[in-house]
Amino acid sequence: MLLHDERVQLVEFCRRMQADDLTVGTSGNLSVRSGDHIAITPSGAAYEDLTPESICVIDLDGNHVEDGLEPSSEVPMHTSVYRHTDAVAVVHTHPLYASTLSAVVDELPAVHYMVALLGGPVRVAPYATFGSPELAENSVKAMDGRFGAILQNHGATTYGDSLAKAYTRSVYLEWVCRMYYQARLLGEPNILPAEEIARVAEKLNSYGQTVPTQS
Ligand code: 13P
Ligand code: ZN
Repeated sequence: MLLHDERVQLVEFCRRMQADDLTVGTSGNLSVRSGDHIAITPSGAAYEDLTPESICVIDLDGNHVEDGLEPSSEVPMHTSVYRHTDAVAVVHTHPLYASTLSAVVDELPAVHYMVALLGGPVRVAPYATFGSPELAENSVKAMDGRFGAILQNHGATTYGDSLAKAYTRSVYLEWVCRMYYQARLLGEPNILPAEEIARVAEKLNSYGQTVPTQS
């Protein structure tokens, strides 16, 4: 079985995505790249039923590399992100607050310094039908200089140099969307200047450490 470790990781993060309420039903899809191959979640399959064997393997052009279930309908978006960035993993979700904002705003502004984790204010990619090459193109354009985008009337997509990083970006993106939504209910939120977001992005490069475990 090709990409065994990546398949195991994807199943684990699909479970997390459900537990973290980052998507609804069978919506959303995750992938991990290894060389010329991409392990990606199957289309329309219940996350709770996924096993490493049910994960699909495709190449960078979206061709099936192994027989199995039908890969995600968003293969064009995933492969476009891999072709245009140095992404190792892509996470696409339908979280409530990012999806809500996607129907109203053109950009998530720097309402919290953690937008620096996404590379700055997060653009909303213009709407296109799910799974279409247009959606892939709009998404990649909106991601220019960023690690993710909100997709108009749809959801959000993030990427990273590991599945853990791509996933963490989705978690923070949704949290900042929720915060912005709530702040807007109270009044006109203060927005941080670009220089401050650049300073935070620099600091985040050395933020975080691994807690040693006892053997
Ligand atoms: P798949 O189930 O085909 O991965 O599609 C879900 C989705 O989120 C489409 O945008
Ligand atoms: Zn979607």
